[in-house]
Amino acid sequence: MSGRPPRVAILGAGMAGLAAAWRLSEPGWQNELESITVYQRGWRLGGKGASSRGANGRIEEHGLHLWLGYYENSFRLLRECYVELDRAATDPAAPIRTWRDAMLPVGTVGLEDRRRDGWQHWLGQFTPNDLLPGEPEAEGGELSVAEFIRRALRLIMDFLASLPQDRMPSGQVVLSGSPDLPSGRSAIVAGLRVAVLAAILEASAQLRGGLDRAGVASSVGAMDRAISAINDGLHGLVEDDSDLLRTWHLVSVMTAVVRGVLADGLLTDQRGFRALNDEDFLDWIARHGAPPEVAEFAFIRGLYDLVFAEGGAERSRRGVSAGVAVFLTTKMFFEYRGAIFWKMAAGMGDIVFAPLYEALRRRGVKFEFFHRVDHLHLTADRARIEAVTVGRQVDLAAGVERYEPLLRFGDLPCFPSSPLVDQLDAGAELEGQPLESHFCDWPDAEKRVLRDGVDFDVIVFAISLGMAPIVCRELIDDRGEWRAMVDNVTTTATQAVQLWLREDEHALGWRHPGTTVSAYEQPLHTWASMPQLIDVECWPATDRPASIAYFCGALQASWPPEPPERAYVAEQRARVRANAVELVEQRLAHLLPGTSAGGSFRWDLLCGRDGHRGRSAIDTQLYLANVDPSDRYVQCAPGSDAYRLRAEESGYDNLVLAGDWTDNGLNAGCIEAATISGLQAANAVLGRSRSYRIAGTWLS
Ligand SMILES: Cc1cc2nc3c(=O)[nH]c(=O)nc-3n(C[C@H](O)[C@H](O)[C@H](O)COP(=O)(O)OP(=O)(O)OC[C@H]3O[C@@H](n4cnc5c(N)ncnc54)[C@H](O)[C@@H]3O)c2cc1C
Repeated sequence: MSGRPPRVAILGAGMAGLAAAWRLSEPGWQNELESITVYQRGWRLGGKGASSRGANGRIEEHGLHLWLGYYENSFRLLRECYVELDRAATDPAAPIRTWRDAMLPVGTVGLEDRRRDGWQHWLGQFTPNDLLPGEPEAEGGELSVAEFIRRALRLIMDFLASLPQDRMPSGQVVLSGSPDLPSGRSAIVAGLRVAVLAAILEASAQLRGGLDRAGVASSVGAMDRAISAINDGLHGLVEDDSDLLRTWHLVSVMTAVVRGVLADGLLTDQRGFRALNDEDFLDWIARHGAPPEVAEFAFIRGLYDLVFAEGGAERSRRGVSAGVAVFLTTKMFFEYRGAIFWKMAAGMGDIVFAPLYEALRRRGVKFEFFHRVDHLHLTADRARIEAVTVGRQVDLAAGVERYEPLLRFGDLPCFPSSPLVDQLDAGAELEGQPLESHFCDWPDAEKRVLRDGVDFDVIVFAISLGMAPIVCRELIDDRGEWRAMVDNVTTTATQAVQLWLREDEHALGWRHPGTTVSAYEQPLHTWASMPQLIDVECWPATDRPASIAYFCGALQASWPPEPPERAYVAEQRARVRANAVELVEQRLAHLLPGTSAGGSFRWDLLCGRDGHRGRSAIDTQLYLANVDPSDRYVQCAPGSDAYRLRAEESGYDNLVLAGDWTDNGLNAGCIEAATISGLQAANAVLGRSRSYRIAGTWLS
């Protein structure tokens, strides 16, 4: 490559690969790089975040996606993308033209409480603020443990202060409320407040003076007294009172967290929150005084659901690292901008990946669709990647120079749910082929070999970790770090169900449109009400849904699969279908009571395709078993964090890493982690520092 700028190959185009492409291709990029080429199997971008448009223009997601209000880097990237596209001038017909059209703030979050007499809704209202996520000048850094303690103490105080005069309104809690001093509370809550406030004041005073060993011991002692006051005051009294039970659980958890941070010496431990990552969160808070009952607390189950983790017996292996759990919840509650959640006005593919594709193409980034990476090969001295073997899955039709992946639905550029065959030299039999799946057996049009110094000088490996044992075999055999990473960073299959219903939520008995509810019955534990999508889909007026419901959860699927793999895929899909039937027949009525009549699901409610009515219409709804290796969700299980590699730690001169599975400072499976990792990969390629223009506070 002497004398010319490097050629960059990005393998995999999920959020991480595209974030890397975004930063690498900033204005003036041709002065530093000769070319940027993205290689992606199949016909879409987005990976685990992908969505496309199916029959009736309906949005079909890989799984429900929400953005959290602390996703500084993802929002910044999205905002830059919409500004650059300038759809108001370049595509005025598009109904979504700005990032504010694209992302909708949501302050209500629901959890499901499991009580002796059945499930009960618990809705939390998070007050909006005037901030906007992704401001260009927002700064970055690390969240110090001392700052965390200060904020946690303030949150406990806010929570206690926000308890209403006598009781909380049924089924509700206000987590960030008025800081006014309390008066006239029930004796139990008042006593509990005094004990906890005393502990907090003690810890705050110690923090202000700078905690020494004696200060820590004294604060821990105060916390212990508070925890026993909470447990003595409430244990046994709260079982039949949902509001008191939640109060007990919430204050127990938060107090145990503060005690744990103090007692485990995190204020002085160089590793910060990472020092806790070998232990499961529930195990850790139990060690610091939280009663075992909190494992059932909806808030905790919701946390485990959020990251597709297992509670129960498997949690020491597949639960949530305590450090990541504390860090994540801190960011979620303390650092949201605008709203705690943001929902998309259409699918992830329409809102994020299609605009990114359009803007990156304009910048001169090349996309090679239908390019499946098979193996990375090392040089003889094992210092570099010498070649990448690739299966080119299909030929382009005569006269087509480049595959154009987008179609307009309701005037919005979107990815369709199957390849656009008129651009391809393949017959109708290509339709329905799973070209995005490792298990696809469609014969390749060509085997390609990309060579170091010819096709690339630097590779950004942005394929997900689940594929690494397949495509990075030589690297895993060569370096212990790679072996340790694939052995210890666990992944799980997931499942997703989408229902289109003929009646609106109000008629079906739900009064909180747009809410997302988690911690419900396994396996499809999370439900999102998605009324905002009805108008962007393209149903005929005669057969239009009036409500849309998304569900998702983990899928316990054996791994690696026993051959034949097609049978494995079919078996997992049949399991998800059975789960979808069970959901509508047995669980949906709790959320949407009107879906049931006389104790049976009203099958006529399903908006089917192709004239399907009644029970058979379930097969025209969307149900997905996400079992492909790259689609497996990357967990943040106890004992895994230390094995993640950073963008610049591949061990090979011309290889950098991107993905939510890297050590990126967030280290949990989410869009923000993927974005940060992609930006870090680009920083590494361009020789910049790891944190160069990364916004927000992250683990060091
Ligand atoms: C069901 C579900 C729900 C989720 N919900 C949320 C949410 O609400 N909010 C949130 O923030 N996060 C959510 N996530 C997590 C989020 O989707 C991921 O963290 C993120 O998309 C990961 O991006 P990535 O680029 O690291 O990996 P991926 O998205 O997996 O990207 C990898 C890319 O590599 C491609 N690829 C794989 N193998 C090959 C090959 N051999 N050759 C060429 N290309 C290949 C893939 O097709 C893909 O494009 C959810 C995940 C799941 C599974």
